[in-house]
Amino acid sequence: MDPREVQSQENSHQNQSDSRLAIDIGGSLIKLVHFRRSADSTVDSPNDSLATLDVIDNDSAIKGRLHFAMFETSKINDFLEFINSNKLHLNAGGRANDVLPEEKVFVKATGGGAYKFANLFKEKLGIILDKEDEMDCLVAGANFLLKAVHQEAFTYMDERKDFVQIDHNDLFPYLLVNIGSGVSMIKVDGDGKFERVSGTNVGGGTFWGLGRLLTGCKSFDELLELSHRGNNRVIDTLVGDIYGGMDYSKIGLSATTIASSFGKAISDNKELEDYKPEDISRSLLRMISNNIGQISYLNALRFGLKRIFFGGFFIRGQEYTMDTISVAVHFWSKGEAKAMFLRHEGFLGALGALMSYEKQS
Ligand code: ADP
Repeated sequence: MDPREVQSQENSHQNQSDSRLAIDIGGSLIKLVHFRRSADSTVDSPNDSLATLDVIDNDSAIKGRLHFAMFETSKINDFLEFINSNKLHLNAGGRANDVLPEEKVFVKATGGGAYKFANLFKEKLGIILDKEDEMDCLVAGANFLLKAVHQEAFTYMDERKDFVQIDHNDLFPYLLVNIGSGVSMIKVDGDGKFERVSGTNVGGGTFWGLGRLLTGCKSFDELLELSHRGNNRVIDTLVGDIYGGMDYSKIGLSATTIASSFGKAISDNKELEDYKPEDISRSLLRMISNNIGQISYLNALRFGLKRIFFGGFFIRGQEYTMDTISVAVHFWSKGEAKAMFLRHEGFLGALGALMSYEKQS
């Protein structure tokens, strides 16, 4: 199995098939979710990690396990090989309806790649991608996680992670911010009831693209790893840099507030090679996370939403990213709005596509 595969919990997935496969092919990453029913009546002990656990729908006594996997979209051929060698598509998609040849396998798919790579899947694996709308899937996946998975949502600030109890009767409305290559901001009012109210093109793709150019990193993980060791104060101009180390307290700005991301590159009159890649990565991560947190808050404000859930693979469970987003939301909302994160952040779309099998049965 792919080393990045993780397994995690599921429950109330009620279909009568033994297994189901759904994929979300985004601009940067392919996400796969595979559900397998299990006859086993015992349940593994849940823990906090993604790499554990299973199932249960008490109502129908259906048990099973969700498997999650992620590949870079540029390595789509590895992904096809992964499906093929693990035979994930066999008996895991929908059967053809009576108009189409019965031997064909239909697999629920979402994201732009479901269109772009449709022929490749057909030619290489005989899979017909049954396309589901990307926003529908994101929302369905988020609602599923928030309602069905224990300890899914959490806050993160000041090095503290706190799980949030979700009251199913008081979940809506909320703002869903999905930070993938680009960013979508969706006001969710209920199951299948939502509106994409905003977004920004400065997202995960920007961090990875600009970060790669500025640091020469060969992988996203390397860029993230660099950011752990960096110090953004080397490049960012802080309020204190302008005010001689003092706060600008009259308007609530502390000396450590960033006045201008990358601003020191001008005042220091240095060249790119004069800066450490670690510091560049850190400043970039801070700039993008902060910006997304602020735009999210403004959209929450537009619609009077107090809860903002952040998903998408940009986050990757990174403490610094989550902390920056949380601080931005907290700062601009004066503590009124809350940023929350999801343990299965990157799999909303794929989960939503998986849910869509049920709509048909
Ligand atoms: P999309 O559907 O647009 O691909 P995702 O939710 O999968 O969106 O997030 C893609 C973003 O996740 C990338 O732009 C990058 O910032 C980040 N990312 C996380 N892990 C990786 C990785 N291994 N390779 C590339 N990008 C990654």
